[in-house]
Amino acid sequence: MEVVLGAVLISIYTMAGKHMSMGLIRTMLAEPSYGWATKETKGKGADAKIYVPTWPEIISEWCKNINVFADRKNWLAAYDWSATFALQFINFMFWSWYISPKLLCAWFLYAMVVMGSSNTLWIHRYATHRAYQFSDGVFGSFAKLLVQNLTVYLVPEEVYVPSHHVHHAIPDQPGDPYHPDGGALYCFLADANHQQINRNLNEHDYQQVSDMLDHVPMYRNTYEQYCYWGTISHPADLLPRIAANWIGHYFFWYMIGGHPLACCILGAAGFWFLGIRTFNFDSHGQGEDRHQEGVDFYPVSSSINQFFPGTVAGEWHNNHHMFPRSARSGFLWWQMDIPFAAVRVLNVFGLVSSFNDDKPKFMKRVKDSQPLVKKSDETPLPFDSRPMTSIGSILWGAAFLFSCCFAEHSFHKDANLWLALICLVLVVVDTGIIARAIEKRNSKQQ
Ligand SMILES: [Zn+2]
Ligand SMILES: [Zn+2]
Repeated sequence: MEVVLGAVLISIYTMAGKHMSMGLIRTMLAEPSYGWATKETKGKGADAKIYVPTWPEIISEWCKNINVFADRKNWLAAYDWSATFALQFINFMFWSWYISPKLLCAWFLYAMVVMGSSNTLWIHRYATHRAYQFSDGVFGSFAKLLVQNLTVYLVPEEVYVPSHHVHHAIPDQPGDPYHPDGGALYCFLADANHQQINRNLNEHDYQQVSDMLDHVPMYRNTYEQYCYWGTISHPADLLPRIAANWIGHYFFWYMIGGHPLACCILGAAGFWFLGIRTFNFDSHGQGEDRHQEGVDFYPVSSSINQFFPGTVAGEWHNNHHMFPRSARSGFLWWQMDIPFAAVRVLNVFGLVSSFNDDKPKFMKRVKDSQPLVKKSDETPLPFDSRPMTSIGSILWGAAFLFSCCFAEHSFHKDANLWLALICLVLVVVDTGIIARAIEKRNSKQQ
């Protein structure tokens, strides 16, 4: 049944009542220089095989794509990564100078729950899937702006929305911007390497791609401007809006708790911006079949329901692939959904006029469905994205050590030494766990 559904999806992709040909879906994103598919299978549509680039290939592509000095059309990817690095610096300031038990709780809540849920609410469920509608009139428009700027604004809609539609139309196929078989780094650097729109669209196709954002409060380039900037967004609109949002959030939190709290919030947002890049790889089983009986009910894509992202941000990804246009993704009793609660609150106050809730359809489908059969019995690695955790720990450890040894005015030299030691222990334990898991897997295969 699902296979038939998948085949129907291959010819045409429907998004909010608008149809888009699969030809455009497959060409609307800029293809990385290493290509989506292997040379032998290129152009074979659903039968093509992903080309898995090496780490040096991925990194050199990333360096090329964020270099705004070589090509002004790289400005959006350059913003993405400058913002990421700038906020890591603020995060580091917080961890080095202002950390306290109270602020640590605030940091955790903001980085995980607040940033996660607000981004699910805005960029995923509204900007991409139009799962709910704001009411007409001044109050509805005000609510829309408020939800867009509810937290520290980090992900420009253009970077996420068109590419995410491609992901839903051809999940786990060459051209999927975060194809899990590409590996952790392939997905981690996807915003610069795979999510930029194609710079050679004709006027008609550009209009169709640009119209994917026609409900978002932003300026959209004319075709001539697109030819100049290579994007739908215009830097003179996007960058001042981001600056105003960051300054606004800094002052809001400064008024409540001074510089330490403001630093804590911006740092937490920066940590989320880095961490969210591991989500797409993890939520598609890290390239393996990790569907679990009684948890995942949609076998068409490799997406899985994960407890942590689901609980803190309503991202029950297997449910979401089954019903992408639903404003609710937590369907079972134990699946919390904070963004859906927010939609309901906005609806009670008349700011959201309508929303889709596919829970009844889900319950019916689950009742009628056969239990999922697990295709592989491979033991999954014990935690998500282990290699990324190791690299993260090394970087943080090095930063703490640097601050401890060389920064003359570091206020917490001893604390930094301890933190550097903790990072070192994490790396050792982490590497040990990965090595054991690989060894176990190899011995099973023999
Ligand atoms: Zn997905
Ligand atoms: Zn989605």
